[in-house]
Amino acid sequence: MKKIVIASNSAGKLREFAELLKPFDFLAIPQSELGVSEAEEPFATFIENALAKARHASRATGLPTLADDSGICVPALDGAPGVYSARYAGEPRSDARNNEKLVAAMQIIEDRRAFYYAALVLVQHADDPHPLIADGAWHGEIVAEARGTGGFGYDPHFYLPQYGCTSAELPAEVKIRESHRGIAMRELAKKLAQFRL
Ligand code: IMP
Repeated sequence: MKKIVIASNSAGKLREFAELLKPFDFLAIPQSELGVSEAEEPFATFIENALAKARHASRATGLPTLADDSGICVPALDGAPGVYSARYAGEPRSDARNNEKLVAAMQIIEDRRAFYYAALVLVQHADDPHPLIADGAWHGEIVAEARGTGGFGYDPHFYLPQYGCTSAELPAEVKIRESHRGIAMRELAKKLAQFRL
């Protein structure tokens, strides 16, 4: 099996990425197991930040790397929280304070539309000139009242009209399949099949 580094420290994501990569004969190794430090994420777009994370871990390990970057965007707020989703209300990072800030920012806004967005980047080496790139968006709207206990982050306030519930109320397997990350993962799987790395 070929080794591939996963440039993420989230246990949930590591599991999902390992599943995605198994059919392609990749053995997924979390970057923390290889002593890779957290990369800087200074850019204005998810894609650039995912690419920075992938290059950083690949340079440190000499191995192919898969990285992701994701967040929630509200068009009526010019795309905020956007790339700042994890630290929208500042440090230390807190889902509760991020949600409070988002709900306050939306108080007098009529257009409640929002979408989660995920970018995935796979580099074969640190200076790979043609990284495999996939993305996905998942559309919903922001509700003031929190609903549900599943998921994480903004899920209790992310309402999905097609399901009649928030993403925190969806069964985990449905969320994994339908979400921005699920969409991006399927796209990446297609590209992996084409490129046969
Ligand atoms: P990262 O991709 O791990 O940096 O996540 C960025 C941030 O976006 C998270 O800390 C959450 O606040 C938010 N986020 C990304 N995906 C989701 C999701 O599926 N549900 C809820 N929040 C999410």
